[in-house]
Amino acid sequence: MLTLDAHASGRHFLQIPGPSPVPDRILRAISLPTIDHRGPEFGALGRKVLAGLRDVFQTRHPVIVYPSSGTGAWEAALVNTMSPGDHVLMFETGHFASLWTKLAQRLGLKTEVVAWQGTDEHLPAAPGWRHGVDAALIERRLREDARRSIKAVCVVHNETSTGVTSDIAAVRNAIDAAGHPALLLVDTISGLACADYRHDEWGVDVTIGGSQKGLMLPPGIGFNAISPKAQEASKTATLPRSYFAWDEIVAMNQEGYWPYTPNTNLLYGLSESLDMLLGEGLPQVFARHRRWGEGVRAAVRAWGLPIQCADAAVHSPVLTGVITPVGVDADALRRLIHERFDLSLGTGLGKVKGRMFRIGHLGDSNDLTLLATIAGCEMGMKLAGIKLAGSGVTAAMEHFASHAAAKPLQRAA
Ligand SMILES: *Cc1c(COP(=O)(O)O)cnc(C)c1O
Repeated sequence: MLTLDAHASGRHFLQIPGPSPVPDRILRAISLPTIDHRGPEFGALGRKVLAGLRDVFQTRHPVIVYPSSGTGAWEAALVNTMSPGDHVLMFETGHFASLWTKLAQRLGLKTEVVAWQGTDEHLPAAPGWRHGVDAALIERRLREDARRSIKAVCVVHNETSTGVTSDIAAVRNAIDAAGHPALLLVDTISGLACADYRHDEWGVDVTIGGSQKGLMLPPGIGFNAISPKAQEASKTATLPRSYFAWDEIVAMNQEGYWPYTPNTNLLYGLSESLDMLLGEGLPQVFARHRRWGEGVRAAVRAWGLPIQCADAAVHSPVLTGVITPVGVDADALRRLIHERFDLSLGTGLGKVKGRMFRIGHLGDSNDLTLLATIAGCEMGMKLAGIKLAGSGVTAAMEHFASHAAAKPLQRAA
């Protein structure tokens, strides 16, 4: 229990897959005095972050910034493009895909869920939660939709509840192969600025993002990157919307302003984050995350535990899901690790509650913070009486030592 004067020495290890640790440089930027959101300095800040965001989403088209969490941006994507009762096709990759489905239902949309078909010895209750989107299933369903009643295909790029990414270009190809006019809506809330993501090249109509994962900011900003086709659809879509409506925001963003008071101090942080990420270079950012994922997976394999993602082609570079042995309550293990080592790990969500935990390896991490994280997991599992096949710490050390980072480390002052 946290009391008012609780103080743990050293840094807390926030190794959940979002919110991720916020770099000091960003915290300092956020602490600057709030300015007039209609004044000239603000316009320059607004224009700068909107331009930088286009680079991060890899788009030439508008990116909308909301003072909301990612969930608000999910809602915004649907209310701007859909009409009451519209039929949307969702793919159940995990808990976040399910939550988005529930949100769509509450907005009055007709949802249809496609899921991976098969069985699984480790997660019999959620076999599909070890795989990514199967584009062939989407193509088959769209081909059957002769009346073209499906208005949108909604998929999660990086399923944060499982540690599985999905091939978004393959989903686009499936829609095109079926000759279907549905919009493609993609959640990359946890993939953005960790895993390669190309809004324009992959033909995505609305991409949903959030601030507290790869962008290394606190929670509180949601994003919609929107294609010309999505903007066109918004002119005839009739779900009620006002605060989330794109039209007024896009118009005022031309000059770097918003129709309402934006979250000024988080935008200072966003400006700093964009400087850091674009200064490093997105290819380097993606390579850094891939390498961390490989190191953490080497540790899990050495422990002899199953990695939740069952398909080596789509391991997430953001987080790794670790399935605990049958009879071990993964949440009790997480509590023990938190109490003993001040390390926070991600809980098992929804259908996999208690059966797995998640190690975040994103954002402002480095080899040594990840080794400490793996050490915390390993010590905790031993204390919990779990028999491990070998040392994950040793395996990860060997991996990091023998695979040099693509770019030498350099610290900004
Ligand atoms: C974090 C996350 C969300 C939810 O975002 P909030 O900011 O918690 O509203 C949705 N989808 C994915 C894939 C996420 O990782």
